[in-house]
Amino acid sequence: MSEERSLNFLEQIVEEDLASGKNGGRVLTRFPPEPNGYLHIGHAKSIVLNFGLAQKYNGKTNLRFDDTNPVTEDTEYVDSIKEDIRWLGFEWEKELYASDYFEQLYQYAVALIKKGLAYVEDATAEEIAAMKGTPTTPGTNSPCRSRSVEENLDLFERMRKGEFKDGEKTLRAKIDMAAPNMHMRDPLMYRIKHAHHHRTGDKWCIYPMYDFAHGQSDSIENITHSVCTLEFIPHRPLYDWFIQELDIFPSHQYEFARLNLNYTVMSKRKLKQLVEEGHVSGWDDPRMPTISGLRRRGYTAASIRSLCERVGIQKRDNIIEYSLLEFCIREELNRTANRAMAVLDPVKLVITNYPEGQVEELEAENNPEDPNSGSRKLPFSNTLYIEREDFMENPPKKYFRLGPGMMVRLKNAYIIKGESVDKDADGNITTIYATYLPESKSGGDHSGMTVKGTIHWVSAAHAATAEVRMYDRLFTVENPASEEGDFKSFINKDSLQVISNAFVEPGLLQAKPGDRFQFMRKGYFSVDPDTTSEKIVFNRTVTLKDAWAKETAKAK
Ligand code: ATP
Ligand code: MG
Repeated sequence: MSEERSLNFLEQIVEEDLASGKNGGRVLTRFPPEPNGYLHIGHAKSIVLNFGLAQKYNGKTNLRFDDTNPVTEDTEYVDSIKEDIRWLGFEWEKELYASDYFEQLYQYAVALIKKGLAYVEDATAEEIAAMKGTPTTPGTNSPCRSRSVEENLDLFERMRKGEFKDGEKTLRAKIDMAAPNMHMRDPLMYRIKHAHHHRTGDKWCIYPMYDFAHGQSDSIENITHSVCTLEFIPHRPLYDWFIQELDIFPSHQYEFARLNLNYTVMSKRKLKQLVEEGHVSGWDDPRMPTISGLRRRGYTAASIRSLCERVGIQKRDNIIEYSLLEFCIREELNRTANRAMAVLDPVKLVITNYPEGQVEELEAENNPEDPNSGSRKLPFSNTLYIEREDFMENPPKKYFRLGPGMMVRLKNAYIIKGESVDKDADGNITTIYATYLPESKSGGDHSGMTVKGTIHWVSAAHAATAEVRMYDRLFTVENPASEEGDFKSFINKDSLQVISNAFVEPGLLQAKPGDRFQFMRKGYFSVDPDTTSEKIVFNRTVTLKDAWAKETAKAK
């Protein structure tokens, strides 16, 4: 697939750089997560892009934790991020931390002060904002702007030593308070934060801002192509300014469009709220757009990479349909998932002319799409479970399943004919009685009968009980983050439905967490880690067909 498509704009840039001998033919990218949450599928896009670009041109990719914000960061997130990148199929060249560069970044700041290009500011955040001006009117110079180099050096050192309280002073770059680009109006370089850092502990109480940390970290690592999302376009002149004034390795920043999916939110801050307020069971809740949630839901790494490839690299923001992600996993699982029988809404069916106590081991193909998948044995007896919806007492026309006097094939087994039912006091069917045609056995049918419907079943005495978790989209609107009001008011209250008494074929008792199956006629399911020796738990990964696409097809 990737061989045939034309080059994306980043590949074009890399090829031009290689052709012109820039960076000595070297390609080094980086993936720079802030360890303040679990990765989501948007990050997967950035990972596939950064690692993929380097792989394609014999380059390498660093994993750099952008850990300059001590309050929100945690090693739990560092560990989960590493696990998710590896699971997606990528391995980094070096594991690095922006916090490892704190001393170097401090020295860079000192160098800029000495050049008269940075100063210590006394004003509060509000005062700084008021002096900033607007996009159409220039800002005003702070009185601190004229401080001497000596005074700035002294104050900056005392900031580091902890002589000032949070917010009391900042370090600013001295650029141009009338610059059309607001980011160039004497941006902040350092702030005071007396906070414990997950790696540097209490060593520092001043922390570099993103703009002063990111580009310099790229440069320290000799990153050749620093790829980020579109919102950083206005930061690029500042990125370049610091590198130029410091006269350090000229890394370059390139921007592409974020990946957005409909019916979900894609920001760690929002996802964290869902977790902390208990709207979901955790970062890996199968309804979450996190890598860990998708993994638990049954998504494969290949299906996520495939989505990223299909979406491509764009220069304009847009929202991708969730159904495209579902298409990617469905397509893969159709090829790779073994078929199994699971009855999610069971009703008992007794075959009155099948010998009581007799058990046959019937042969069933594991996956008709994969000739190498082999087959398995299914126990068959006179008492089965079938889906309640597969029997109707007064069926409409074109209902090709079971009803009184109607015939249907039991998958991998026999043709049966509906005879009668038992009901409880409320009129609900408790048992269906049927007869079977002994000569209609699948694989050796000489009954001469043809039937239109085939239904799935399990043998009551042999079936295993399972809990099945059915998921729907987490939000009721396409773009919850853009709606007015709290995005959490658009949570879909019916996004999880738990079926606690499903019956599955007995072989599934051997399945391990993460194993994936197609439950015939029902969808693709994977074994959840909540599974115990007592109870097997399945997550519905995706339905067999796009329910929405089916509706539009019907309308045609
Ligand atoms: P969030 O808002 O979810 O916290 P972020 O951009 O703050 O996202 P970072 O940890 O800073 O998260 O991101 C690491 C890298 O992943 C950055 O290069 C960022 O541009 C990229 N990234 C984050 N979200 C997306 C997305 N939706 N699509 C593509 N790339 C993304
Ligand atoms: Mg961020």
